[in-house]
Amino acid sequence: MNHEKPRHIVVVGAGIVGASLAYHLARRGAQVTVVEAQGIAAGVTGRSFAWINTSCSGPDPIPQSRGAAIDAYRLLETQLPGLSIRWTGALSYGLDEGASVPSGAALVNRARITQLEPNLRKPPGLAAYAAQQGALDAVEAAHALIAGASALGAAILTQTPVLGLVVEGARVTGIDTAGGTIDADTVVLASGTGIAKLTGRLNVPVPIAASPAIFIRYTSRPGLARTIISSAEMEVRQGARNAPGSDPGGDRRPPCQRGDRRRRAASGPRSMRPRTFCARAGDAYHRPYSGRLKPARSGTAGR
Ligand SMILES: Cc1cc2nc3c(=O)[nH]c(=O)nc-3n(C[C@H](O)[C@H](O)[C@H](O)COP(=O)(O)OP(=O)(O)OC[C@H]3O[C@@H](n4cnc5c(N)ncnc54)[C@H](O)[C@@H]3O)c2cc1C
Repeated sequence: MNHEKPRHIVVVGAGIVGASLAYHLARRGAQVTVVEAQGIAAGVTGRSFAWINTSCSGPDPIPQSRGAAIDAYRLLETQLPGLSIRWTGALSYGLDEGASVPSGAALVNRARITQLEPNLRKPPGLAAYAAQQGALDAVEAAHALIAGASALGAAILTQTPVLGLVVEGARVTGIDTAGGTIDADTVVLASGTGIAKLTGRLNVPVPIAASPAIFIRYTSRPGLARTIISSAEMEVRQGARNAPGSDPGGDRRPPCQRGDRRRRAASGPRSMRPRTFCARAGDAYHRPYSGRLKPARSGTAGR
C-alpha cells in the first residue's frame, strides 16, 4: 500500500476468514479494526474439522487458492508462534468408482495402509495417501491470527454485533454498532452466514446459507488415528493433545457442542443433514458423512 495515511479497514467477523484477513491486512500496513458479534472463532470455525486439504471432490470454483493452501499455512507457521499444525498426511478411501486420485496424492496398497494406520479394523485394499496434508485446531489458529493482527496494531472488538452498514451515495463508509458508528475506508464482510443479513439491507443478495453438519469430539487413547482418515462414511483425525508423545492433559472446551453448521452456496447441494449428537471433552474429531455422499463400502476406524 502506498497511502501516506494507512487505510482504515473494518473486518466484520473473527472466524478463520476474518482473523486471517485482519492479520494479513495489518501486515501490509492497513489500520485494521475487527468487529465480532460474539467471541473469536465463535461461529462455524469453532466446529471445523480443519483439514488443510488441496483437493476438491466436485468442480472446484477456487482451484488456485485451494492449491496454495498448504504453502500458505507452512509460511504462517513461521510467522505465528501460536499456530501449530499437524502435518500427518491424509488417507482417503471408498472413493467413487473411477474417481481420479487427488492431486499430490499417491495410491497405496493394503500393506502400506496398515503401516500408516495400524488401528484400522478393516483396512481397504487401496487408498489415496496425500503425505503433505495436515490439520490444525481452528480455534487456536483464529486466536493466533488475531493475536498476530493485534501485535501489528489492529483493534479487536468482540461482543460487538454489527447492526448495519453506513452508506453514502454508492459507497459503504462504515458500520453501525450499539456503541455507535465506526467509519472505514473499506468494510470487509467476513461474517460467514451473517453476511446475507448485512448485505440484504443494501439489496445486494449474497447467497450464503447455513448447512447443518455433524462434528463429534471424543476422548481416545494416544495414537489411535495417525493420519487424517477420510472414507465415504466419515472423516476422522486425532487432535494434538492425544498425538503420540503429546501431553494428554485434556481439553478445556465445553463437553457438548450442538448446532454445528457449515456454509454453502444457497444454490449448492444439501450435503449434510441435521442430526442429534453429543461430544465428550477430548480430542479425537469425527465428521460423519451423510446426504449425497455414498454409504460406506469398506473400512472403519476405531474400537
Ligand atoms: C463440521 C465442519 C467441518 C469442517 N471441516 C473443514 C475442513 O476440514 N477444512 C476446511 O477447510 N473447512 C472445513 N469446514 C468449513 C470451515 O470451517 C468454514 O468454511 C470456515 O470456518 C468459515 O469461516 P468464516 O470465518 O467464514 O465463518 P465463521 O467461522 O462462521 O465466522 C463468522 C463470524 O462472524 C460473526 N458475525 C456474524 N454476523 C455478525 C455481525 N452482524 N456482526 C459481527 N460479527 C458477526 C460470527 O459471530 C462469527 O464469529 C468445516 C465446517 C464444519 C461445520
